[in-house]
Amino acid sequence: MTSANVDDDRPSEAAHEVLRRVFGYPSFRVGQDAIVSAVLAGEDVLAVLPTGGGKSMCYQLPALLRDGLTIVVSPLIALMRDQVAQLTDLGIDAGALLSTSDQAENARIWAATRDGRLKLLYVSPERLLMDQTLDRLARLGISLLAVDEAHCVSQWGHDFRPEYARLGEVRARLGNPQVVALTATADVATRADIVERLFEAPPRIFVAGFDRPNLFLAMRPKATPKKQILDFLDRHGGESGVVYCATRKEVEGLAEALAASGHRALPYHAGLDADIRSRHQDIFLQEDGVVMVATVAFGMGIDKPDVRFVVHASLPKSIEAYYQEIGRAGRDGLPAETLTLYGLDDMRLRRMQIEDGNASDEQKLVERRRLDALVALAEAPRCRRQTLLAYFGEVSEPCGNCDLCRDGVKSFDATIEAQKILSAIARTGERFGSEHVIAVVLGDDTEATRKFGHDKLKTFGCGRDRPRAEWRSIVRQMIAGGLIAIDIAGYGRLEVTEAGVAVLKGQTRVHLRADVLQKTERRDKRAKAPPPALAADADQHLVTALRRLRTALAKEMQVPAYVIFPDRTLIEIAATRPRSRNALADVHGMGQRKLDRYGAAILEVVAAGA
Ligand code: ADP
Ligand code: ZN
Repeated sequence: MTSANVDDDRPSEAAHEVLRRVFGYPSFRVGQDAIVSAVLAGEDVLAVLPTGGGKSMCYQLPALLRDGLTIVVSPLIALMRDQVAQLTDLGIDAGALLSTSDQAENARIWAATRDGRLKLLYVSPERLLMDQTLDRLARLGISLLAVDEAHCVSQWGHDFRPEYARLGEVRARLGNPQVVALTATADVATRADIVERLFEAPPRIFVAGFDRPNLFLAMRPKATPKKQILDFLDRHGGESGVVYCATRKEVEGLAEALAASGHRALPYHAGLDADIRSRHQDIFLQEDGVVMVATVAFGMGIDKPDVRFVVHASLPKSIEAYYQEIGRAGRDGLPAETLTLYGLDDMRLRRMQIEDGNASDEQKLVERRRLDALVALAEAPRCRRQTLLAYFGEVSEPCGNCDLCRDGVKSFDATIEAQKILSAIARTGERFGSEHVIAVVLGDDTEATRKFGHDKLKTFGCGRDRPRAEWRSIVRQMIAGGLIAIDIAGYGRLEVTEAGVAVLKGQTRVHLRADVLQKTERRDKRAKAPPPALAADADQHLVTALRRLRTALAKEMQVPAYVIFPDRTLIEIAATRPRSRNALADVHGMGQRKLDRYGAAILEVVAAGA
């Protein structure tokens, strides 16, 4: 945790008391305490906390402790609705003004706001920008303006929203109330932009570590993607997770294949009808054990804390996108597993998408760098987490919770192999993509090799000693290592970089990973060992019974299951078997109100399961 000022400030005893009594949490998370105390002290704050770090607490708790109304802006309607449901279930007066809610509902919320009953009011940016809304709120007087997903303010962020750019104006019109802005992803450029656009004067800035130690990180070359994903899902029966695909077509194909193998898999992409999409989203939120097969259209604002895995069936768009998407797993802090499959085709596709997009040249440059960083991560020669955190500017030790730490990496001197590839690229005039270059090295008799006379080259067939899959891995690793570049103008043409020239001339040697060369299933077998058990002490029958109770309560109240209580609570109950209301009150997440509402039912299930 770094901060502009001293950061040994601690929230007051009153704040701890509310945290325990209302939210049922024994302590603040790392980073939360300093942010909460700065907000309570009346300071403007910009906070970067990793996904699942508990950003909402940073304004929810201060909102309860102070007089007046807190406005929360978020670009995500589903998220606002969810938070209001959660707060209401905790016994807190909160409401949301959304363009989608009906007039009667909005009138009710305005009335509650006027009476001073409401502590937290969630407003969509579109709604907030309306003159009528601003005038009313300005008259009421706002005590705190909380801006969630604050990176949307900046054109450097990966999700710029024009309405967000006008929030500085909103702040001024509301009479410059205190502002707290929160985001999970903001590099230095984005942070500077947020400060300039959103705040009247420089705020205090808090940047918590990017590490999500509970996520198991793994990346593997795409060999037989369907089978690789099915093997992965075999270890995650009954758990909720997301499988991200690069295209709609891939979503549909994979969702069907997974369903055919007996998984409760649902498709989600922007091409589906809005009502199908929202139905699938609701099922995912409300039921256990659903696999959402989706494009990145899914996930922003999905607050479900018990997503146990995220799989990428294809390489994501950039290292930032990767970090954000895997970050949707394990927000509750319990172990969660991620797996990313990647191939040369993905790398080419992603590159093409950047070049074909209509972003400015400057922005394309940023995107290229973020993609390169992801490719390098895929072929990383050391701990994935170290490599990932290094990108975000953090120095760390090998993590012990990634595939490379677990399985180790074997490298070999690949100077000769690299020279063969580089020479094939150079001798064919740097005009061809990877498949053709590999065809030349393998000495394939294809139309193209004959047509261009490449079968006459000295390098033709110089790599017959290795199978095609190995050459693909070598090319990928060389791209990741910066010896080859996929050309900028499109078509996926390979070029020899300066570093590549040095290798070609024999000035530097190359080491590549041997363990990823072959697409054997050996590694898959080893990966069968499940990740650390969720809770060794928890009685699985009792967990199941409690899940059933939770589903029933959720259905009855028409809220997502985790609003009732999170996995962690359920597992702790099953492990400690509380017999009294007092004992139950000690369980993580059991606030006063939840005890009143669900305590008796839970104690009954525990007693029956004993
Ligand atoms: P994000 O930073 O991703 O927005 P949330 O605010 O949604 O994270 O919080 C993630 C989860 O962590 C929620 O279920 C929330 O209730 C829980 N949480 C927040 N603060 C604490 C805390 N101090 N102790 C335990 N759980 C917490
Ligand atoms: Zn590691």
